[in-house]
Order: sequence, then C-alpha cells, then structure tokens
Amino acid sequence: DRLKESKVYMRALFDYIPLEDKATPCQEAGLPFKRGDILQVVTQDDPTWWQAKRVGDSNLRAGLVPSKQFQERRLAYRMKMGTLPNPKSPKKPAYDQGCDKAGLRRSFRLSRKDRQGSSGEGSDPGDPDFLTYEEVTRYQQRPNERPRLVVLIGSLGARINELKQRVIAENPHRYAVAVPHTTRPKKPHEKDGVEYHFVTKQQFDADALNNKFIEHGEYKENQYGTSIEAIRSVQAKNKMCIVDVQPEALKRLRTAEFKPYVIFVKPRVPESRRRRSAATSPGGGEHGRITDEDLQEMRQSAIQIDQQYGHLVDRVLIKEDSASACAELRGILERLERESFWVPLCWVR
Ligand code: 5GP
Repeated sequence: DRLKESKVYMRALFDYIPLEDKATPCQEAGLPFKRGDILQVVTQDDPTWWQAKRVGDSNLRAGLVPSKQFQERRLAYRMKMGTLPNPKSPKKPAYDQGCDKAGLRRSFRLSRKDRQGSSGEGSDPGDPDFLTYEEVTRYQQRPNERPRLVVLIGSLGARINELKQRVIAENPHRYAVAVPHTTRPKKPHEKDGVEYHFVTKQQFDADALNNKFIEHGEYKENQYGTSIEAIRSVQAKNKMCIVDVQPEALKRLRTAEFKPYVIFVKPRVPESRRRRSAATSPGGGEHGRITDEDLQEMRQSAIQIDQQYGHLVDRVLIKEDSASACAELRGILERLERESFWVPLCWVR
C-alpha cells in the first residue's frame, strides 16, 4: 500500500497532545505534534480522525490526528463556551518600538477588510482565524520568478530596522528596502524616490484611504508609510525586498504575489549586559545595560507576539548581538534563493 503515497501536507497551527484529548477513539494511536510541524496526511477517509505522519520523523507508522473540520468545530464550541480566548479581541501587545528612533510610535491602521470579520462573533468554523491546519507544498523560487518578500517582525528590543539596514548594506545589489513615503520636507542632500517618496499631506491621506500602504505612522507631526507599490518596484528590479513591520501587517502581506518568508527576531540579552536596578530608561540607557524590569518586558513582548502571530512565522532568529544576527540572516536569505520551502498551497496553485 505504499504505491499511492499521499501528497497532502498540512502545517499544524496548534500543538496536539493525544494523551490529553478526551475525544480521541484511541489515545495510544494518536500522533502528537507541535505548531509548525508539517504533517503528511495519509488518509482523510474518516471525517473526524485523519491518519498522518510527521515529515522528518523516522517513525513510519501513521497516527491519528483530529481532522481540520473536527478541530474547527471543537474550537468554535470552546469559543462559544468562553473557554477559548477570542483571537479577534486580543489584548494590546507591546511591540518593538526600539527599532525606531526614540519618540516614534508606529501606528498601524489596517483597513476593515484586513481585520476579517471583526464585527462578527468569530464562531464560524470556516473562519481562517481558527488555528487548525494550513495545506502546504514545497516551493522553490525559480530564476525567472520574482524573489520572495522577506518580512522581519521583532519583539521589544530586537532592533529589526538596524538588522535590515545592515544586511542590505552588505549586499545592496541583491537586497533592498521598500522606499517609504513621507510628508516631511525633503532635506538638501536627499533625492525624491531614494530616501523617501516625498508627497503632500493630501496625497498621503488619499493613498492611506485607498489602502496603498502596508503600514503607516506619524512621527513629529509628519506621516510616514510603506506602500505595496514600493515593494513591487524592488522586486521588479529582481532584488529581494526586506521589510520590517509590526506583526499586524502580516495578514496583508501573506499573498501569493509576495510569498513572504517571515522571520521573527527575538533578542537574547547576554549576562554581561544585564544590570539590577531600574535607574535608567528602558532599552538600557547607561552603557547599554538592561535591567530586570526591561528583561521582563522584553520577554512579555516576545510571548505575546508568539501567541498571536507565531503560526505565521517561518523562522525564529534569536539575536544576541548585531553581528551574529546579521550573519545568520544573511545565511537564511541565501538559502531562500537556493532551496525549497513549505508555503501555503494556495500560493502556487
Ligand atoms: P526621518 O524623518 O529622520 O528620515 O525619519 C524619522 C522617523 O520616521 C525614523 O525614525 C524612521 O524610522 C521613521 N520612518 C521612516 N520610514 C517609515 C515608514 O515607512 N513607516 C513608519 N511608520 N515610520 C517610518
């Protein structure tokens, strides 16, 4: 029966522990898995329990996993009973504001369309916000295809903008940023379309209304934003576009056109940079030292992003120092061009 090898692959969007599953017909036959694991679904004959193997697992025997439909139904029920937090009304997370110059608060006004069904109760089992499985396939970028979009998100203290700039500066012919729009006046040394696209407030507001930005925010009474078109124009030059965004923007960017590869940068603070008291400002003012309170906030921020957006992340990059994080990012980018990766099936069909 190995003649017909199943071609159905699912990325698990939740952790599954058969021994804790009261509904399973046989706990011992269950296949445990973690969010992010790729499952090869061997049969979907039963509407409630699929048989699956974990890709990369040496265990050849398939195990029972809840079907997508069944898992959705369970989640819908739990949400109705109030035992599942509603993913549509999450607590306000604390994101990385350390990646911008002090004082800038990025605000991300996504359109109503992007916050799918935000007015509803969210108990429709067909709702994409029910984290069950996502059907995936291997994808390798061909030489004649546009490079994939690389999206960096970071928790507090990750300084993803700096990381992005650094890796691009090393290889400007291969990687580039999307040139942002701004309403601030052009400085004498700046060129329109290079540092920024300089636009009037009127133009900016119109573009924002027309959903042209993946994100936009205000800084010192000027508007700044990155447009979808700016990403396209980098890709049109056959360069890999790297953007650093707040995680809210992910939904908007997860399209077949961009095929984003999402890297979540989490800082790790070495012992030598820790200090005990909170006498300095967060982010480590004095000699770049970081207090226990800062550390706690950084951890909390990483946990929140992981909970809310972890299922959209392809790769976690632990950043201890700028140089090694940059080298690791460079390695990832090189592999992206050479190797195949799992992507949602709907991106390639
Ligand atoms: P400057 O006016 O000095 O060039 O930039 C001021 C601030 O605007 C910087 O801290 C920069 O990070 C921020 N900024 C630049 N581009 C963008 C963007 O596309 N979106 C947002 N939200 N902020 C930006």
